[in-house]
Amino acid sequence: MTTATATAAPFRFFDAYVLRSERLGPSMVRVTFGGDQLRDFAGGGRDQSFSLFLPHPGQLVPVVPTGAGDGWFAEWRAMDPAVRAVMRSYTVREHRRESGEVDVDFALHGDLGPASRWAGRARPGDPVVLLGPAVEDNKSVGFRPPAGTDWVLLTADETALPAVAGILAWLPPGVRAAVWIEVPHAEDIQRLSTLADAEITWLVRRGPSGSDRPLLDAVREAALPDGVPYAWIAGESGTVRALRRHLVGERGFDRRQVTFSGYWRRGTSEEALLAEALSGAATER
Ligand SMILES: Cc1cc2nc3c(=O)[nH]c(=O)nc-3n(C[C@H](O)[C@H](O)[C@H](O)COP(=O)(O)OP(=O)(O)OC[C@H]3O[C@@H](n4cnc5c(N)ncnc54)[C@H](O)[C@@H]3O)c2cc1C
Repeated sequence: MTTATATAAPFRFFDAYVLRSERLGPSMVRVTFGGDQLRDFAGGGRDQSFSLFLPHPGQLVPVVPTGAGDGWFAEWRAMDPAVRAVMRSYTVREHRRESGEVDVDFALHGDLGPASRWAGRARPGDPVVLLGPAVEDNKSVGFRPPAGTDWVLLTADETALPAVAGILAWLPPGVRAAVWIEVPHAEDIQRLSTLADAEITWLVRRGPSGSDRPLLDAVREAALPDGVPYAWIAGESGTVRALRRHLVGERGFDRRQVTFSGYWRRGTSEEALLAEALSGAATER
């Protein structure tokens, strides 16, 4: 007798729609997604990210690949960019599995970006598709402190604030965490829940994003705790790169103890970043 074992695919498409949206401050809006399929969404907490597919203005629903399995990306790329859904990366801010609800906090940066524009106008019933985890242990969770970590360093701008909130909510009681979060306005500062022994420093930019680098200045000037650190750094690519260079080059962090991710890059859309990554990968082959 043979027994068929169903292996859960790590990621799948989830049809969803906007249940409600709530303005959190001048720069952030929380959109809550719902739908029966989201009961099977299996987030791993921390900085769990996923791909969000949005319709173009005038489309009723996002046009996504119909094929199952790993072939979806090739199918999506082959579709007409004016027709295929806009694909952007976002973080699960909170996931209530029993009610099939997922909160996502969007940083609003004007109408230049389709996702920012969409989020600013989101209304109950608006349809979206999430490409997200069907298993809790999946590779879209980046925060993974190695065994032997004594304390944690976190830095974020407003795009990585939802991830830091998820990490702080996940950290075990008493873990020491030094946290710096940069936001555009004082009214964007949020109350974050954690059982960790966290020292959270909020930094308010003085000008447009990137015109000054309060995160970099603050970390450079900080007296850091003793012991083995694990750093998680995310936000605008240039700032992330500079922070990583500082921690590894000037503070002597082991590069394996630093997880870093450019969440966006000034002057470049996520689509262009993806195209750049793909052409880089093709050149390396
Ligand atoms: C793993 C991951 C998780 C992420 N999680 C979140 C999240 O939870 N919340 C969130 O808000 N963002 C998050 N981001 C960042 C988000 O995907 C980008 O900001 C994305 O570019 C927004 O898409 P858009 O369509 O609004 O702008 P795009 O079309 O991608 O870009 C248009 C223009 O806007 C600029 N731009 C993009 N983002 C910003 C910004 N924040 N401020 C100023 N200018 C910007 C670009 O440089 C470009 O010039 C995440 C990114 C990654 C990789």
